Amino acid sequence: MKYDYLVVGAGLFGAVFAHEMAVKGKNVLVIDKRSQVAGNIYTENKMGINVHKYGAHIFHTSDKEVWDYVNRFAEFNNYINCPVASYKDELYNLPFNMNTFSKMWGIKTPAEAKAIIDKQAGEEIERMNREKGTTEFVADNLEEQALSLAGRDIYEKLVKGYTEKQWGRDCKDLPAFIIKRLPMRYIYDNNYFNDRYQGIPMGGYTALVEKLLLTGKENEAVSGSITVKTDTDYYDFVKMEGNLPAQPFESVNGDSFEKILFTGMIDEFFGYKLGTLEYRSLRFETEELPDVDNYQGNAVVNYTERDIPYTRIIEHKHFEYGTGKGTIITREYPANWKHGDEPYYPMNDEKNNKLFSQYTELAGEYRNILFGGRLGQYKYYNMDQVIRAALDMVAEQ
Ligand code: FAD
Repeated sequence: MKYDYLVVGAGLFGAVFAHEMAVKGKNVLVIDKRSQVAGNIYTENKMGINVHKYGAHIFHTSDKEVWDYVNRFAEFNNYINCPVASYKDELYNLPFNMNTFSKMWGIKTPAEAKAIIDKQAGEEIERMNREKGTTEFVADNLEEQALSLAGRDIYEKLVKGYTEKQWGRDCKDLPAFIIKRLPMRYIYDNNYFNDRYQGIPMGGYTALVEKLLLTGKENEAVSGSITVKTDTDYYDFVKMEGNLPAQPFESVNGDSFEKILFTGMIDEFFGYKLGTLEYRSLRFETEELPDVDNYQGNAVVNYTERDIPYTRIIEHKHFEYGTGKGTIITREYPANWKHGDEPYYPMNDEKNNKLFSQYTELAGEYRNILFGGRLGQYKYYNMDQVIRAALDMVAEQ
């Protein structure tokens, strides 16, 4: 069959791109090596609960156009993310706000909270300057940076252990620039995100992506078509010449394509010829608890002490205000990444960004191959940014 586009990856980027191209009258073949669509936003219904299989996903944006766009494909509930932090059996509200400060110090007013934070941060800066024999404070590592911004109590209880688990390194061995600011909210407001719009698609993210991919033929005015093949790896599916797709683009089954959009890893695409980009990975441990109706009373509880090996526990039913019998929880463990592991977070430090820009330059030589999404563009994108980037790419075609 003859297609205008081969889209590699049925994640959010690939799905938005395919949808918009079909609206423009193009015929699109979408392949994914996984057995299901939706990439990392895949949700799977178990015990009547939509389980976020590749990590908890909360949609939030201030981009009205993107918000209106996703609302065409799903109805969003009014879920507001209000995570709780657990430190040695003390519970604190996040993000750092008056509820957190009141619990930590037994105070009531913003002025009291500000005075304590300023005093603690000031004492730490003075101590560090004294130890370094200087009067001009410069943070040499993440610990020093966090202490200078938030003081000892918040650093020890809510920042240190969590950050060390996330990065697999001591805060003293992490660069200061990782934490540029530690936003403090001097109001009683537990809403984690500052964005104007927020929610969870009712019925799960997979249904949203299926609608984008026209599964079940939605009634949108679409003159093109989308064909989806799962369990199909690009490297086995496309005829290759060395590491690159042979020209003209063809599949091993005789399909042909004018252009390719690739949303997998860009370094893998080029056979790692310039080097390997690095990621942080995650391991998820999911537990079904048919006899427990409400495990932790909140969708997200962060564990901020280092001795507990996971960073958070997600209780999926609370994303959709579930009241049914039983519950499902997932413990999230940060992990080092090696070839073959799921690449979750790009490591956007200087070294990796430089390597990525070399790959971008190389990619520029192939006009009929586009690179998109979190892995193709090696960027930590939130979902709204992925949609925005995909719509922008469509507009350029
Ligand atoms: P992906 O979803 O990774 O899709 C890429 C697809 O390409 C995959 O399905 C993969 O199987 C396929 N693929 C790769 N290589 C090949 C190949 N060789 N052949 C065939 N197929 C291939 N964003 C938010 O806005 N809110 C959140 O709360 C949030 N939480 C997150 C939590 C975690 C733990 C993580 C990791 C991310 C979170 N995000 C969140 C970001 C969000 O997941 C991404 O923005 C989005 O999923 C990226 O979509 P994508 O299509 O670029 O990539």
